[in-house]
Amino acid sequence: MNIRFEETKTLKEKPDKNALGFGKYYTDYMFMMDWYEDKGFTDPRIIPYGPIEFDPASLVLHYAQETFEGLKAYKTEEGKILLFRPDMNAKRFQKSNERLCMPVLPVEDFIQAIVELVKKEKDWIPDVAGTSLYIRPFMFAYQPKLGVHAANHYKFLIILSPVGSYYKEGLQPVKIYVEDELVRAVKGGTGFAKCGGNYASSILAQMKAEEMGYSQVLWLDGVEHKYVEEVGTMNAMFVIDGKIITAPLEGSVLPGVTRDSMIQLLKKKGYIVEERKLSIDELIQAAEEGRLTEAFGTGTAAVISPIGMLCYKGNVFFNNNTIGKISQMLYDTLTGIQTGKLEDPFGWTYEIK
Ligand SMILES: *Cc1c(COP(=O)(O)O)cnc(C)c1O
Repeated sequence: MNIRFEETKTLKEKPDKNALGFGKYYTDYMFMMDWYEDKGFTDPRIIPYGPIEFDPASLVLHYAQETFEGLKAYKTEEGKILLFRPDMNAKRFQKSNERLCMPVLPVEDFIQAIVELVKKEKDWIPDVAGTSLYIRPFMFAYQPKLGVHAANHYKFLIILSPVGSYYKEGLQPVKIYVEDELVRAVKGGTGFAKCGGNYASSILAQMKAEEMGYSQVLWLDGVEHKYVEEVGTMNAMFVIDGKIITAPLEGSVLPGVTRDSMIQLLKKKGYIVEERKLSIDELIQAAEEGRLTEAFGTGTAAVISPIGMLCYKGNVFFNNNTIGKISQMLYDTLTGIQTGKLEDPFGWTYEIK
């Protein structure tokens, strides 16, 4: 791709690195590229960050044909810039787009666009511990038309946001509400795809949980409301009898890059990992018998979110509501590799030069 560049007239003031929050600030530039039915992908460009004009009949505004990705760039102590497994995001983006009948972007182009944009914005990568530059690639149907159909015009964009810790409290155990009525995804639907529609339909359960004083929802499967699938917008892992259990990837669970990385790390360290169906009854029983020692969510934004309490027909505490040993080890190891502090025996880091 030959990416053209359009200079901005005014550079923004950089935010306080110690109070970044998540998704509050955006950098000076963004990447944009169009796709037309007759031309394919065209006019890749890095342009000043700013609003996009929409025809009120743009398809995405009505039928939610939209997909996205999320990854981070880290600045190491030596000043190197590292991405973490960007090829995984590129491939998942392709799978999401195939499911949503949207154009499939070659892996090299996905990575090249990120690399060139991040290079341009390298001064925006914060270097305080726990911070990073969040990268949000996304695509949507732009054609104005009211018929439900794949579009003849899409836009692909990348925006960047310097971020601090995902959770205000930092790495702290959270209270989780087990949602046994509303569902996130079913097999045959779009659960495995990273698409905006999945999120739109999850907000109600999230609001309900927050109103009751919980911070996230534990989703059960959409058919029997019985098997544990994900926690909020993260993959869920449970430590029972010393083994780590997580839901299998069978169509309704999002194949997280963090999930995959944690599984590989755990196996390398000699833990037994089971990708299998785990019923809520088995989980609660294990908690009541003291065999559930840790539970946590995994995802790029938060890395790990330890669960300290589950509410399912009454509250169940475990692990003394503290951060577990395995959770802490995984957090330290993964963030260590991502930020270049620890050696990367997996070849996961990708340096932007
Ligand atoms: C993005 C996402 C995850 C985590 O994926 P990572 O690649 O680890 O960031 C998990 N569940 C859902 C629903 C997601 O959208």
